[in-house]
Amino acid sequence: MKKSVPLVVGNWKLNPVTLKEAIALGAAVAKKHKKAEEPCVAIAPPFPYLSDVGKKISKSSVSLAAQDVYFKNIGAHTGEVSVLQLKDLGVKYVIIGHSERRAMGETDEEVKQKTQITLKHLLTPIVCVGERERDELGNFFSFVESQLRNLSEVFTSIQIKKVVIAYEPIWAIGTGNTATADDVKEMQLFIESVLTKLYDRPTAKNVRLIYGGSVKPDNARTLQSEGGMNGFLVGGASLKAEDFASIIKAVS
Ligand code: PEP
Repeated sequence: MKKSVPLVVGNWKLNPVTLKEAIALGAAVAKKHKKAEEPCVAIAPPFPYLSDVGKKISKSSVSLAAQDVYFKNIGAHTGEVSVLQLKDLGVKYVIIGHSERRAMGETDEEVKQKTQITLKHLLTPIVCVGERERDELGNFFSFVESQLRNLSEVFTSIQIKKVVIAYEPIWAIGTGNTATADDVKEMQLFIESVLTKLYDRPTAKNVRLIYGGSVKPDNARTLQSEGGMNGFLVGGASLKAEDFASIIKAVS
């Protein structure tokens, strides 16, 4: 995956309610994105739908993503799903450290371990970072920096270039309060400066950064052209094939 090619990922979260609806949504997304090479597009249905949705999209250029992964491959870990199981279903991307999972207790250590095992088995981790709120003092910058520093403790320059960083300010997720293009641009430059400090400039320039937080058809074009990041992680709007297609088009 070249960094220059944008990436748009639809995170379906705990939707839809039935397999039938999931298959229909997967088919509708696939139909709208048959062979185009740009941008890279992926959808992340809930685990029970991965296999069937994966089959539905297999002849399109839409890839399969998972919403989470466990950091062990086998054993007594009730309720968990391993990267090998995901790989076997054709999953290419794994969302890790989403704020909704961190809110349920996922730690930086677990984010690191999940990212490690995902890379080890050659899937692409999409690691979410982002602050809970924006304060006047700019403490949110050091919050994001600490999340990046956590990754740099274990990943080499070669490895970090295989990780997608999704900047998802928590205050913008599912709220309709999208960050402005200026906010996104500022964070893109900040993340690159932190990665330059932690690694070096060529590495920083080669880590794919995407934005997530209330991306909709009507703000996608501006966020993409002025925000400086290279694609989106989309929640709510990915549940409507039309809206998701408009966002993909805005990025193309
Ligand atoms: C998300 O859950 O990653 C997300 C960005 O959600 P939404 O687009 O609904 O804000």
